[in-house]
Parts: sequence; C-alpha cells; structure tokens
Amino acid sequence: LKYPVVEIFPSIQGEGQHIGMPCVFIRLYGCNLACKWCDTPQAIATAKDDTVKGMTAKEIVDMIDTWKPSVVVLTGGEPLIHKLKELLIVLRNAWYSIDIETNGTLKCKDFWMIRHFAVSPKLPSSSMWEHRKTDVLRWYTELGSRKVSFKFVVAHGMDYNTMVQLVEDLDWQGLVYVQPVNNDVEIARDIAKWLIQDKLWQYRLLPQWHKYLEMR
Ligand code: SF4
Repeated sequence: LKYPVVEIFPSIQGEGQHIGMPCVFIRLYGCNLACKWCDTPQAIATAKDDTVKGMTAKEIVDMIDTWKPSVVVLTGGEPLIHKLKELLIVLRNAWYSIDIETNGTLKCKDFWMIRHFAVSPKLPSSSMWEHRKTDVLRWYTELGSRKVSFKFVVAHGMDYNTMVQLVEDLDWQGLVYVQPVNNDVEIARDIAKWLIQDKLWQYRLLPQWHKYLEMR
C-alpha cells in the first residue's frame, strides 16, 4: 500500500489545542470537500502532479525518523479518506504519538491509536456547510474532550452564529477553538466582542500562528 504524500515537514502546530507545539506533519493528498477558502490547494487539486509522491508506511516512518519528533500530525486534505491503519501501526510501533486533523465528515475506525483529533467542521463561508455529517460529529463528541477538540474558521457573523448553534446542538462541553479566516484582525475583534457578549467562556479565539511565522 502506498500513501499519496504531498509533503512531510517539521513545523510548529499553528492552530487549536496544541498551538506552538513542534512536531512533524504528514500531508496526504485528497479531500472529500472543496472549501472556498481552502489554504492547502496543493492537497486537493483535481489533477495530481509531480508533487504527490506514493510512499509506503515504512518509507514515511524512515523519513520521520530523521527528526524523531514526539508527535506526528496527519493532515491533508482530509487524511481519513485513506486506509490509514497500516501507517498508524507502523508509526505506533516506532513510538510516535499521532494527531489527526479532520473536517469531521468521516469517522476513524482506528481511533484508539490516535492521541488527539482536531475536528474542524466547515461553516457557511466555506460553501461546504451542507456537507456536514452531524452523526459523525456526534461520534467525535463521544470520544470526549481529552481526545477531541473542535476548531472553526469564522469569516462573518453568520459563520459565528452557525458555529454556536452547532456546538449547542452537539451538547459539546469541551473547549472550542475559533480562528478568523486569513488571520483577519477586524473579524477577530468582532468574534472577541461576540464571545464576551454571549458569555461563551468555553471558546478560545486564536490566530493561525504558523502563518504569522510564515511557516507551513
Ligand atoms: S476540508 Fe480542509 S483540505 Fe478539504 S477543502 Fe476544506 S479546507 Fe481544504
């Protein structure tokens, strides 16, 4: 089995619960959504080009071994469209902790091998809101707040209201990370104002830190 790898690179986790954490990212090709503001178009382009490399789990881990991070983050695209089991087993056998970044439309059968899921449902500004899978999001909530965090990119008031309603419908009591689209400071100020007005103390407003650092 070969995995379509767009890139494997060390960086700082720029988003969500583990913001600031040095780690190594494995970016896999392909996504089941097509968000308007997708910031990884190289992972979702319809035609594969030379930048996508087929790699076995062993080849991937050999490359990770050159850095020996404590945490490996699987991202995309949407990593859960792939048969990850073999890769997860090889990573675990090499003693790596594994985080997954997902859009929350697919479950992970091998969830017990994962340290943390950053689940990022797409709001109306992405144009993918109607593709949400509420049953899948509920499944993630059942894994609990030690294993799962929710993360949203908000572009305007409608996104904000949709997010708040969704979190309420899911009865999610854990932390919720909110990022203004494109690190837009005006939107961030609005979000801060709304969170305080609405007394939403379980939310955390964060930037996409890696973009400030001009890192991947
Ligand atoms: S889910 Fe993520 S990778 Fe897929 S299109 Fe949307 S932003 Fe891009």
